[in-house]
Amino acid sequence: MNDIQTTLLRVDDPTDCPTTVLLIEDEPADAKLIQDALAGTGTGDSVFHVEWVTRLSDALKRLGNEKFEVVLLDLSLPDGKGLEVFDQVFQAAPDALILVLSGLTDEETAREAMARGAHDYFSKGHVDAHWLPRALRYVMERKAARGALQSSEERFRAMSDASPLGIFVSDAEGSCIYTNAAYHTISGLTLEQTLGTNWSMAIHPEDRDRVLADWRDAARDRAPFQTEFRFLQKDESIVWTRVNSAAMLDGKKWFGLVQTVEDITERKSAEFVLQTAEEALFEEKERAQVTLNSIGDAVLTTDLLGNVTYLNLVAETMTGWPCEEALGRPVSEVFNIFDGTTRLPAANPMQRAMAENESVGLGADCVLVHRDGSESAIEDSAAPIHNREGRVTGAVIVFHDVSESRAMALEMAHLAQHDFLTGLPNRLLLTERFSHAIGLAQRHTKQVGLLFLDLDNFKHINDSLGHAVGDRLLQSVANRLVECVRTTDTVCRLGGDEFVILLAEVGQPQDAAHIAETLRAALAMPHQVNGHELHINLSIGISVFPDDGIDVDTLMQNADTAMYHAKASGRDNYQFFKADMNARAVRRMFVERSLRRALKLGEFLLHYQPKIDLASGAITGAEALIRWQDPEAGFVTPEHFVPIAEESGLIVPIGQWVLRAVCRQVQTWLDSGLRAVPVAVNISAVEFRHPGFLDGVARILKETGLAPRYLELEITESILMHDAESSTSVLAALKAMGVQLAIDDFGTGYSSLSYLGRFPIDTLKIDQSFVRDICTDADNATIVAAVIGMGKSLKLRVIAEGVETHEQLAFLQARHCGEGQGFHFSHPVSAEAFARLVDTGN
Ligand code: C2E
Ligand code: MG
Ligand code: MG
Repeated sequence: MNDIQTTLLRVDDPTDCPTTVLLIEDEPADAKLIQDALAGTGTGDSVFHVEWVTRLSDALKRLGNEKFEVVLLDLSLPDGKGLEVFDQVFQAAPDALILVLSGLTDEETAREAMARGAHDYFSKGHVDAHWLPRALRYVMERKAARGALQSSEERFRAMSDASPLGIFVSDAEGSCIYTNAAYHTISGLTLEQTLGTNWSMAIHPEDRDRVLADWRDAARDRAPFQTEFRFLQKDESIVWTRVNSAAMLDGKKWFGLVQTVEDITERKSAEFVLQTAEEALFEEKERAQVTLNSIGDAVLTTDLLGNVTYLNLVAETMTGWPCEEALGRPVSEVFNIFDGTTRLPAANPMQRAMAENESVGLGADCVLVHRDGSESAIEDSAAPIHNREGRVTGAVIVFHDVSESRAMALEMAHLAQHDFLTGLPNRLLLTERFSHAIGLAQRHTKQVGLLFLDLDNFKHINDSLGHAVGDRLLQSVANRLVECVRTTDTVCRLGGDEFVILLAEVGQPQDAAHIAETLRAALAMPHQVNGHELHINLSIGISVFPDDGIDVDTLMQNADTAMYHAKASGRDNYQFFKADMNARAVRRMFVERSLRRALKLGEFLLHYQPKIDLASGAITGAEALIRWQDPEAGFVTPEHFVPIAEESGLIVPIGQWVLRAVCRQVQTWLDSGLRAVPVAVNISAVEFRHPGFLDGVARILKETGLAPRYLELEITESILMHDAESSTSVLAALKAMGVQLAIDDFGTGYSSLSYLGRFPIDTLKIDQSFVRDICTDADNATIVAAVIGMGKSLKLRVIAEGVETHEQLAFLQARHCGEGQGFHFSHPVSAEAFARLVDTGN
């Protein structure tokens, strides 16, 4: 330790003041010698002020009053001797430098005194003027040096103990020679435990390898060494430290090591907390980042000024702005939106979200412009972002592409309001446009025209060339119609070959007529469809708001009526609706015209439905049923045209046609060697009462050469009962011709049984309305059973009509009904099919 503290020592220089010396000597000669020696003669560089006493008591007195730096003490005095003297003097002047003057004999005592605190001793025999001052001086310097050293050491220790830094000092061998209080606190070791140990002993086992490796590196490079490691204290508590090492050098040679040890536990734990917080924050950010990038929505954030602070991946893709490039830019540049309807820039929802401090949705029809100029329909919302104090610091916009769903919605809306084939508005949209047009017309005191269009003979084209051609033709027609009207007008397809045109503002009805003419002219040009040159004409009916109706339904109905009128008036023309145009009448007129044409062009044909013997299942006959193959309406059943034919009288020529056709057919079958059965023809009331009826039948039979027994006539019960008397005579005449007679729809005409017995009939046809419920309705069952019984007793054939099910058949068989007719056996079929049925049974 001395070695180190040498550096810390400062030996005080002797001052210029004379050194005070108390000489305690009872021998005057010795005293004189010493005084002379100290008088300084010959040395010149030091001055001693010597006071001389001979007795111990005087000495003690003086020392009690004054301060002497040096005491020269003879241990053999008149009033005291030996160590006792010394002890008393030492006690009186503890700070003084006490030199014992010994005789030759008492050197042992002098040495003893040194052990007790005397600084030195010397023999009185050696005192001389030259030596004594030097010896004295030397002793004084040594004392001063020792004192200085001691106080320096004390200062150092005080300083080092006061230091919060731990200090560890080791010698050249690395053994500890000093540690301070702070070191003890930090390391948890006592001085005794540190002294002699190596500094590395205290390192936490987990840190030791690392620290020592660093230490060796630093030592090799002679670099200052600094490290951080933990002390593991006895109670397992850990103290983090930062250690600085410095070599103690003497020139180039190092003779030890000083280390300062700083307790950095607090800093470390703060660091740890910070690090943990940072890690947590990082994790949180990372998680948020991953989440934001994996969701399907685009997310964009801005600061308070509206500058972009973040974009997730979807937002990058949708805007075309990479996040790095977008950062800091005004949001309007990156999130460029406009209103899809007006195409005006849309207000950014983020500003409102910040201003109102709440989430806001975006306008319904928002479009985002991509950086490359492409557009996508979006739906979005914005919300303010708050800081910890709850103050708004920015906004977040969340948006997603709704192009597809919006397009889909538009498509759906379009589909709902348009015709699939032509893309024209349908009835729904027409109705909507019509109410709009009415409102407009009322304000401008104008009229609204409604044109009902029907293509003439479209059905024929469709049937003969196929639907594909028919569809293309309709599209071609649709295009031409659209070209003929104003954009404010609406061309609509109702379905099939029917179109309606709404003329939004019509000054006078003649305008509508003008347009109708234009349309006809436009359509008259041939249509090129799939290599066919197709000609098609239009029949148009016109109604006008408000004269012909104030709602779309009425106007449509009236335009439709007018259209039929046009058709009835020879097609390919237009007709205005007139108040006296009764829809039914017009329709009838139309059908009538058509029937005339049908007769002329041979549009009628006959189907045959077999009558079956219920016991054997054999075909006993057939009923001929008329069908109309209308080129426009298609296959038309009798209920739709027979009543009109009856009203118009057309049933007479039609009936003649049927009779002739049936007779020819049966005769053909007979001629071709087929097994022929009687065929029944339905005779309507108008025919039955027509004056030329009987002659007609006779003529046709003759004309065709058919044996009359192959012809049966079906006359409904109501016809016969209407005028039973005359009916009886007609029936009798027919019977006389040899034709068979049947009462059709029996049970519905309130027959008078007395007449029934008188009519020369062969067959009763039980009306299908009774047969339908025979299995479920007891009354009907009773009626049917009664009719069967009655037929039997009157010796008439009984045919049940409308047999559809096996149960009905079983019922009839059980009641021994003779024959049946109905879908259960066969639907009415073509002549060829019927011949096959008769011939082969299927
Ligand atoms: P109708 O004389 O009573 O003829 C029977 C009707 O019943 C036929 O209808 C036939 O197809 C139908 N029918 C047959 N079996 C069944 C079945 O099992 N169930 C059901 N529900 N119906 C069945 P269609 O051909 O429509 O004729 C209807 C009516 O038109 C006939 O009733 C007849 O009064 C009249 N009619 C048919 N052809 C002519 C004709 O050439 N001249 C005249 N003047 N009238 C005719
Ligand atoms: Mg019939
Ligand atoms: Mg019938």
